[in-house]
Amino acid sequence: MQLHFIANGGVASTSGRTIAVIDPSDGQPFDEIQRGTPEDIDAAVQAARQCFDSVWGRTAPAERGRVLMRLSMLVTQHADELATLEQRDCGKPTRQARADALALARYFEFYAGACDKLHGETIPYQEGFSVLTWREPHGVTGHIVPWNYPMQIFGRCVGAALAAGNVCVVKPSEDACLSLLRVARLAAEAGLPAGALNVVTGYGHEVGEALARHPDVQHLSFTGSPRVGTLIAQAAAERHCPVTLELGGKSPQIVFADADLDAAVPSLVNAIVQNAGQTCSAGSRVLIEQPIYEPLLERLAQAFEALRVGPAAMDLDLGPLIRQSQQQRVWDFLSDAQVAGIPVLAQGTVVDEAPETGFYQAPTLLRDVPPQHRLAQEEIFGPVLAAMPFDGEEQAMQLANGTRYGLVAGVWTRDGARQLRMARRLASGQVFVNNYGAGGGVELPFGGVKSSGHGREKGFEALYGFTTLKTVAIRHG
Ligand code: NAD
Repeated sequence: MQLHFIANGGVASTSGRTIAVIDPSDGQPFDEIQRGTPEDIDAAVQAARQCFDSVWGRTAPAERGRVLMRLSMLVTQHADELATLEQRDCGKPTRQARADALALARYFEFYAGACDKLHGETIPYQEGFSVLTWREPHGVTGHIVPWNYPMQIFGRCVGAALAAGNVCVVKPSEDACLSLLRVARLAAEAGLPAGALNVVTGYGHEVGEALARHPDVQHLSFTGSPRVGTLIAQAAAERHCPVTLELGGKSPQIVFADADLDAAVPSLVNAIVQNAGQTCSAGSRVLIEQPIYEPLLERLAQAFEALRVGPAAMDLDLGPLIRQSQQQRVWDFLSDAQVAGIPVLAQGTVVDEAPETGFYQAPTLLRDVPPQHRLAQEEIFGPVLAAMPFDGEEQAMQLANGTRYGLVAGVWTRDGARQLRMARRLASGQVFVNNYGAGGGVELPFGGVKSSGHGREKGFEALYGFTTLKTVAIRHG
């Protein structure tokens, strides 16, 4: 049974209750986590506050960097163990789970190196004045994390927050806690002082909400659905707490007739099947220029038919979806497609070894999806690719920008001027040209426009978000 991690120790919930941990590959429970309470959140926030005031808020930036670098090395050393936990908890194929563990190590490595490079400025002002700016940590930061990439999302928000001198209270998804509880123990081993990083498990409407509303939490970062993001923003607004929202997407991949299709096809497929499509930046719409619509669809269909889905430990192209309700959600979208007469062009195969009690879904390619249909507008969060044709740059832009989202976009063309025109006009936080990074590395600032959220994570931008700027004007005559 798992415990909360508060002040560098395991703590049982005041509720005395637990939540079963389900393996999505067979639908069976195999562990338990604490069902946290607002009191547990309060204990974690108080531990964090104390640590900030007495230790971490006063630790020299270079020393913070050393601790984070040790944590990065420990995560690398434990990558297989962490990947195994994530695989069982989330149903990730082995390669994906291991890539996520190594990405987590890379987040801590990047932010370890950044701790002592977060400079202020001096500003020319009036005669007799010296003006300078300091970047100061907020203090206690709250992090509400979803289940699709627990380690990566934890790395990008907690890594940056700790590097900037903040302390953290993390609320993982009730569907994926195990790897983060283990990483928190590794952080203590790396020398992170008690209270700097706390993990409290439980349901969103119980502990997530308590964290969002806690008066001593001075910054919130939330990654998850637009529905819950709105609740978090409302809770934050009531007490004027800054908030970073990373919400969903319906990211377009735009393929012009002059594109290098040999490079594009595997990338287009990977962008929607990675993590069984449960990726906020999944390339879930493919917009294809008319002259290559049929030939590219044919190649995509062949690639989809070759995809295999099965238990995470088999390490196939796709594992199961996270839970039964997510599987039902995908089925609902696909039955809507059937009612609307949207043709299924190709599907992958769920292997015979997959237990019937697991949450499997064959990757599905739909063609001729009407741009206003919900299949082309709403985030499915499953391995379903909606294909539609376009005629020329202007229509490509209208279709690409024609949803409520704007997280990531891909453009495939050899025409350099068009690459820049498209990148400029796409309403999107990231644009990938002739590649698709599905979020990209830690160096690349990441976040959305419109209903995809606001604020930026990754890169130095994240550090700016996890600090507040103080201007000091000294009149010295
Ligand atoms: P979710 O919004 O249901 O849950 C996210 C987190 O919020 C979980 O930890 C959950 O327990 C918590 N939560 C739920 N209700 C809450 C409440 N009332 N108050 C406070 N916290 C609450 O989303 P999910 O099902 O975990 O993840 C899927 C969604 O997240 C998708 O829409 C996806 O696009 C989005 N997502 C976005 C990104 C990104 O970086 N933009 C990354 C991953 C997932």
